[in-house]
Amino acid sequence: MHQDATSSIDPPPVDPPTVGLVSLGCPKALVDSERIVTKLRAEGYRLSPDYAGADVVIVNTCGFLDSAKAESLDAIGEAMEENGRVIVTGCMGVDEAAIRENHPNVLAVTGPQQYEQVVEAVHEAVPPAHNPYLDLVPPQGLRLTPRHYAYLKISEGCNNTCSFCIIPSMRGKLASRPAAKVLYEAERLVAAGVKELLVISQDTSAFGVDLKYAASNWRGREVPARFVDLARELGSLGAWVRLHYVYPYPHVDKVIPLMSEGTVLPYLDIPFQHASPRVLKAMRRPGNIEKTLDRIQAWRRDCPDLAIRSTFITGFPGETEEDFQFLLDWLTEARIDRLGCFKYEPVAGARANELPDPVPDPVKQERWDRLMAHQQAISADRLRGRVGRTLEVLIDSVDDEGAIGRSYADAPEIDGSVFVEAADGLQPGDLVKATITESSEYDLWGEVESRL
Ligand code: SF4
Repeated sequence: MHQDATSSIDPPPVDPPTVGLVSLGCPKALVDSERIVTKLRAEGYRLSPDYAGADVVIVNTCGFLDSAKAESLDAIGEAMEENGRVIVTGCMGVDEAAIRENHPNVLAVTGPQQYEQVVEAVHEAVPPAHNPYLDLVPPQGLRLTPRHYAYLKISEGCNNTCSFCIIPSMRGKLASRPAAKVLYEAERLVAAGVKELLVISQDTSAFGVDLKYAASNWRGREVPARFVDLARELGSLGAWVRLHYVYPYPHVDKVIPLMSEGTVLPYLDIPFQHASPRVLKAMRRPGNIEKTLDRIQAWRRDCPDLAIRSTFITGFPGETEEDFQFLLDWLTEARIDRLGCFKYEPVAGARANELPDPVPDPVKQERWDRLMAHQQAISADRLRGRVGRTLEVLIDSVDDEGAIGRSYADAPEIDGSVFVEAADGLQPGDLVKATITESSEYDLWGEVESRL
């Protein structure tokens, strides 16, 4: 039977978002407007000839003379009245205070030639529509992780000065992404089937410090660029949210209630690196490190399920046997759930290399062995405590013998696994409830009770 060949390749009807533009001022401003609309058109936005049909209106202002400023303010006022969702750019944008004094509710203000920022503001106000027939890249971007989990980078760089690290000199100071940008990315990932968002950065708890916690608009509400606010909003997306590289700053306490109420996973990856105050000082570590044990106890009191993962370094320059013993004793008290350990390596360019009393390699190794053995016993004990409980398990892989997954306490690649029986028909990415029947030093075994 003849079939219309075109019918199978016609793009589905998409409803493109529309942008209105009011362009004031000189030809330079007009060229700026052209660049902005060219970029937006290339992304699939339509231009609206009137206020009523626009999802958002850009007003490209002129601020050369007082009369031009007055005209710009009038144009912003008109767009606010007629549409209400307005982004201001152009020469008058350098005087944000004057604009906000007259029109406090404009969505964003950017200056002349800030095309990227205007386009970003449009993305935040009305995300671009994805057309699977035209776009080369899926809306969630291309990823190298399995389909059901994804890393979500919330900032670049770092403001700390740890003496063993050269990341700040390589990647620069902390540069956080606006909260709305992170949230739109997370939303796209979840829509594409991601079940677990792994929040990463160099210093997750410092998120937004560089932006002075400025809010950005997501789903019509203002979300401050603040660690706790971001965690809460990410938790509203319906996927597991796992927080990595958190330092024990005092405000981290505020995320614990989100964990006990189930908004984000009760899991904290805190790279403590050491416990001896002397070594931590030489390492120049950030965070409130003096009272860490008290903090851990308080967190566990408020959220008994909290799983803590950490990394440590043995053989840091100047580390004595006494310092090392302090670390072992600290671990006995802290009962960290998951632990990674590195032997100190002098990274070229790191200031720690200039410290006196380097630790000989055999001593580094011997301390590494002792630390791992010490932790193994703690880990085995912690995991034994989960036997008999029913935990949610996210399935990573399935084979003839059953399925391998992870509980809330296990990040992919670095922590342990949950091996489940009664796995018939399970697929990677499935979420099940499993009753834990057995444990070892690092892993758990269980039986599927139900599927979620
Ligand atoms: S080790 Fe210290 S300086 Fe390096 S990235 Fe982490 S917090 Fe920043």
